[in-house]
Amino acid sequence: MKITREFIERVPKTDLHVHLDGSLRLGTILELAEDQGVDLPGDPADEEELARNINMGAICEDLTDYLKAFDVTLSVLQTEEALYRAAFELGEDAARENVKYMEVRYSPLLHTRKGLSYPVIVEAVGEGLREAKRQYGLMSGQIICGIRHMTPEASLRMAELCVAFKYKGVVGFDLAGAEANNPAKDYREAFYLVRNNNVNLTIHAGEAYGPPSIHQAIHMGGAHRIGHGTRLREDGDLLNYINDHRIPLEVCLTSNVQTRACKSFESHPLPFYMSYGIRCTINTDNRLVTDTSVTDEFCRAVQYYDLNIGDLRKLMIDGFKSSFLPYRKKKSVTARACAEFDMVVKEFEEIYGEVAVTDPQVAQELAFQRATADARTPLAYAVGPEDRGYPLRLRRSFGRDEEPESVDHQGDDGSETTEPVSQAE
Ligand SMILES: [Zn+2]
Repeated sequence: MKITREFIERVPKTDLHVHLDGSLRLGTILELAEDQGVDLPGDPADEEELARNINMGAICEDLTDYLKAFDVTLSVLQTEEALYRAAFELGEDAARENVKYMEVRYSPLLHTRKGLSYPVIVEAVGEGLREAKRQYGLMSGQIICGIRHMTPEASLRMAELCVAFKYKGVVGFDLAGAEANNPAKDYREAFYLVRNNNVNLTIHAGEAYGPPSIHQAIHMGGAHRIGHGTRLREDGDLLNYINDHRIPLEVCLTSNVQTRACKSFESHPLPFYMSYGIRCTINTDNRLVTDTSVTDEFCRAVQYYDLNIGDLRKLMIDGFKSSFLPYRKKKSVTARACAEFDMVVKEFEEIYGEVAVTDPQVAQELAFQRATADARTPLAYAVGPEDRGYPLRLRRSFGRDEEPESVDHQGDDGSETTEPVSQAE
């Protein structure tokens, strides 16, 4: 079965790396500017001109050039109403393409120009996300960002805010902004504060700077995930450390090409990382500035790296497994996502009358599993009350075999169990 855009849109997905201030709708910026009397560059009613002015989807000179778009978006994100609306609409856009779980990041440091206090900013964003949950069922959490090109003290304030709002809508801390000349080690105090309070930590690294930046994020910051990690491939030792410790990478393909972190989609390290067994997740970074969606990102991955259904399923599951949800919640959410993915495969197979596995090795293994299963041994891939015959542990052409599909099905010895995911909830 050919993997179509429609199929990708239908399967459950996550977005763990999406910036609030880079993901507004164009029309919303224009409306907010008019309501607030903010001057935007160009014609205040022309969406196309605005798109050009913020380099929407265009290749930039570098990350610093890319970040200029945020001068425009931030100019209209200085009120509670605007923050609420931006958060709600982002949730709405994500839910419409069946994103089930999203972690939205931003820095309250950048939203105080009209006198908003940090807690009011976090509450406004939280209210917008809660409304998206009420209307669409979208689960989400906030990640508070420190900013590299501001003082370490400013990032420490953000770390304090993050700790204060732990379990109140905030699920993690991040360090964002211009990576070159602003090493993570300068922000150690902020990282220590959040980790000391058992808060999750992700750090942008290896995007505009090389492996030393990732090394600092892991060893001086103590990051639980890495934002981008595009240049990790330049250091095999560090690559193995990240792989061995199952530290997830938040991959943002289109953004990497746009900021020239990577020359082209073809030369992006994602397929290499997947083949090496690194835990990769697919993310948007900035829906507006990069002119993308989670569906677009998956479509590009399929198009450029010739992924099959098993690869796609692994990427989708790794998104859920890498989330900052509490473990017990994550376990049930991941199991539900697996079951939903398999139901969509079944539905599309019925429509197209074809087997959804394009990899001959995978197909052969499935045939073997079906042929050797007996009544006493439940199939590892059984879904729901009736055996749909769809694999929950598809072997894949990419990736190592030892990693279980469900979040907790790995014994201490690293072996997989055969417990059906449907029993895991
Ligand atoms: Zn980012």
